[in-house]
Amino acid sequence: MADNYTRFVNGELGKKLAKQLGLPRPAVLRRYTPGAPVTVGPVLIVADDASAADADSLAKALLAWDVDVRRSTEGAADVRWGGVVLVGTAAESPEAVSEAVLALGSTLRRLAGNGRVVVLSRAPEAGDAPALAATRAGFEGFTRSVGKELRGGATANGVQLTGGAAVDSASALGTLRFFLSAKSAYVDGQVLPVGPSDPLDDVDWQQPLAGKVAVVTGAARGIGAAIARTLARDGAKVVVVDVPAAGESLAAVANEVKGTAVQLDVTAADAGTKILEATRHLGGLDILVHNAGILRDKLLANMKPAQWDSVIAVNLASQLRINEQLLAAGVEGLRIVSLASTSGIAGNKGQTNYAYSKSGVIGHTAATAPLVAELGGTANAVAPGFIETEMTRSIPFATREMARRVLPSLQQGGLPLDVAEAIAFLSSPVAKGVNGQVLRVCGQSMVGK
Ligand code: NAD
Repeated sequence: MADNYTRFVNGELGKKLAKQLGLPRPAVLRRYTPGAPVTVGPVLIVADDASAADADSLAKALLAWDVDVRRSTEGAADVRWGGVVLVGTAAESPEAVSEAVLALGSTLRRLAGNGRVVVLSRAPEAGDAPALAATRAGFEGFTRSVGKELRGGATANGVQLTGGAAVDSASALGTLRFFLSAKSAYVDGQVLPVGPSDPLDDVDWQQPLAGKVAVVTGAARGIGAAIARTLARDGAKVVVVDVPAAGESLAAVANEVKGTAVQLDVTAADAGTKILEATRHLGGLDILVHNAGILRDKLLANMKPAQWDSVIAVNLASQLRINEQLLAAGVEGLRIVSLASTSGIAGNKGQTNYAYSKSGVIGHTAATAPLVAELGGTANAVAPGFIETEMTRSIPFATREMARRVLPSLQQGGLPLDVAEAIAFLSSPVAKGVNGQVLRVCGQSMVGK
């Protein structure tokens, strides 16, 4: 549910008042509901000449999802675009992309509320000629800037193919679909590197996690509870973990998702082994979401050892120990998603301990990725920005309001569901080619890169 201010300025009186006073007018974001169309309207695909063949194969894939796809704006003067996809995968010089980029620009005034811009490009690779590297790298700054120019709940994100990944591979198309859909409502201005994966097979888009067993730590409330609900909605059997003190609310979440509750402190020396034991009777562990986390904010000059140490123990050391135990047990095909934070990317006053832990999560994710990949798995992180939870409700009102409205395009905090959708996507079979990455769910917060 949108915050009170967002609801107010979307009402008759609030809309007028905000307009007169020049106040921010955040849009109500469209969230995913099962069975709803992927986009809010037709999708236009534009490409430079060299990338036209890739654009055609994308168009075919989108048609198979019942999306109304167009390759030109001819006869479409009245269309409100649900999405515009810019394909620059085969472009070789900056000059070669200008026509397609400007074609995208000329459609933006007709982009529907909650519309999508997605840029599909290739990452610069070692050995690229400078002009090719420049052409490829340019799409990143371009995508982030387009995102900041959009209004009405529309977003811009990029799929950046790496290692020769094919345009019609499962992960390229799966990521494109995630960005086009309402599941990415609060992901904005992000460019996600996507490596090679199998061609897209039959995918059950309604229940992509059917038959999978997932463990979510810190699931008694907040983001963790939303993750448990979303993974269950997508078909997974879910085991929810939290400390014994949160036992009652944990049991309620377990009931709701028809899952299993396990009271466990993630800092316990044998937490990894306990997690494996809890999933054995369900057929083994497929997805692990390291979500448990705490804040003990203090300026470093006033930081007590217990405040530093407890944050490191819960947010970081527990994840390292659990991952080590799972790797030692040889769990195959394991999909790990860890909660980082934009504070771990940009830093935040009063959060040296928290930022160390969250930067550490980003670091271990990159190092764990090749280790789990040997067993057919992936390790990724999600970095939420300002999410409306009990954790952020404790922030003083004025600071909280600033944090929301300062966001250049969406002008509001995200919901736990938004973080959960990103995690469900990264855990899904189609995201197999996304490994060692950090996906920000931050409404294009200006912190960090
Ligand atoms: P929350 O405080 O509402 O929930 C955290 C849960 O973790 C609680 O249920 C708590 O009991 C559990 N937990 C704490 N220590 C534990 C332990 N030792 N073992 C097992 N469970 C434990 O927090 P939230 O806002 O839902 O955040 C969830 C995650 O998202 C955290 O890792 C947090 O750092 C991260 N995050 C949140 C935001 C935000 O805006 N809320 C932003 C960035 C990152």
